[in-house]
Parts: sequence; C-alpha cells; structure tokens
Amino acid sequence: MASEFDSLMAGMGIKRMGNEKSKPATKVVRRRAGQASVIVGDAPSSKQKTEGAEARLAKLEAGLDLVKGERAEAEAKVSSLKSKVKKLKASLAEAEAANSGPQVTVAAVLAEWGFESAEERSALLMLDGMLERIISNPDLGADEALRSELVEGVVRVCRDCSGPKGKLVITVSPPACSTCGGHDINREARRFVDAALINGRLRIVIVGRDTHHHRWVRERVGDKRLVLTHVSAGVRRDVAAVQADVDHADAVIIWDPETIDPAHLAIYQSASRVGEVSSSSMGGFLAAAAAIIATD
Ligand SMILES: [Zn+2]
Repeated sequence: MASEFDSLMAGMGIKRMGNEKSKPATKVVRRRAGQASVIVGDAPSSKQKTEGAEARLAKLEAGLDLVKGERAEAEAKVSSLKSKVKKLKASLAEAEAANSGPQVTVAAVLAEWGFESAEERSALLMLDGMLERIISNPDLGADEALRSELVEGVVRVCRDCSGPKGKLVITVSPPACSTCGGHDINREARRFVDAALINGRLRIVIVGRDTHHHRWVRERVGDKRLVLTHVSAGVRRDVAAVQADVDHADAVIIWDPETIDPAHLAIYQSASRVGEVSSSSMGGFLAAAAAIIATD
C-alpha cells in the first residue's frame, strides 16, 4: 500500500519527509546591489499554474480514494476475524460446559443395560473384540444399536451349561445362568414329572417364550404318560383352539405372560389350575412348573 501511495505522490512531485537525498536542491541566486534579479527559465503563466494545481488535486483525491478503499478492506477483514474469534469462544465455552457435566462410567452404562454384576461386565468385555468396541466408543450411553445388540444377543450361562449357537455367550456363576439358574436340572425335571404322575395331572399346557425354550423343556420332561402341549409365543392360534387347550388341561403354565397375545392370555388365565412363571432360567421354570402342577 505504502509503495503505491508513494509512487502516486512522487508523480506529483511530493516526497516523504526525512529523506535527505530526495530533498530538492536549494537554488541560491546571488544579487548585487542595483542589479536586477536574474530570471532563470520561463515563468509559468497563471493559467498553466491553475491547470497544474487541478491535476495535482485530482491525483491527490485519487490517492485518498485508494487509501480509503484499502482501509475499508482491512476493516472488513478485522471484523470478519473478530466474528470468527467470537464463534470459536462460544464453541469452546459449550465444549467446556459439556465436559464439566457428571462423567458416566462404562460400568454404569453396562449396568443400566442389564450387566449388573462386575462378573457379567468383565465376562462381556472378554468377548472377542468387545473390549475395543466399548472403550473406543465416544458416547457409549447413546449407542442404541450396541445396547440392543448386547441386551438381546448376549446369553448368560454357567460353566456346566452350554449356550445356544450363534449367540454371544458369557460365562457367569450358576445362579445367573439362563439355563440352569443354579438348579440341579435333572432333579427339577424328575420333580416336574413326579408332580404330574403323583397327582394324576397328565395333560399340561405350557405357553409363552420361544420355540428353543420349549424344545429344551420337552427334551428333559418328555414322558410317554404325559400329554404336553407346547405353545411358543410366536405361534398363531385361534381363540377356539386356545379355549379347547384350556378346557382339556389339568394344568396351564404361563411362561412370561408379556410374550402372549393379551386376548389369548385372558383365556389361559381362566384355567382351573394355572400359574405364571416370569423371566426365569429354564431350571427355575421346571421348579416353578412342578409347584404349579402340584397345587391343590
Ligand atoms: Zn447353568
């Protein structure tokens, strides 16, 4: 900017102050007494003087306009930088506020997802690749996809039981085992069959839960003298069939009532001998079912 301005001014014969070299040399005209002044060169006419002044004025104005334009440009830059700084400060304050909130630990998130004991959480983190997926998650508590994958997909079993294939299986202590629940499965299966035979309650309806739960029960309490009707939650049945099951049953065992169509549930609940078993292990189910069958 300075050099452009300087060259413009130089064009008008204006030099910067303090620059000795560019000072015009002072012309000394010596006079003697009685001698007329020596006139060097032609004196410019007043018309020429006015034109020269106008041209200089026009150039000065152009120079001023240039300086004004450059100043406005610089001011616009400063104002844009100021607004950027303001925005950055605001987002910094926002980030600081977010960080100052209570920090939720991984353990707290996993406990909320149903992995309540330290044993379950460490077993979960030992699953292949799981530790990295959990610790590298920037916002674990908000990861709904991972939550449902773990809540629905993870099966807890003890060392003596085996989990279903294709599921994420974690090893837990027997009371937390989804298969035995800490029960002696063979003993509970015998008690189930005995309760039916001793009381003469051979026609038993088991309704609710998944097909693989029913298969597991049938494999353990299958006895030729018993007539077991298994209705898993996903099976479509009409009301008349449900009513017929109830009418002919000596005992109805409802396994997880919330998995059953409410209209059908009401019919099952109207059975003369009925009981409900909720969210238990399969070993726990056998024990509870034996007690329902034996009810007076
Ligand atoms: Zn077990």
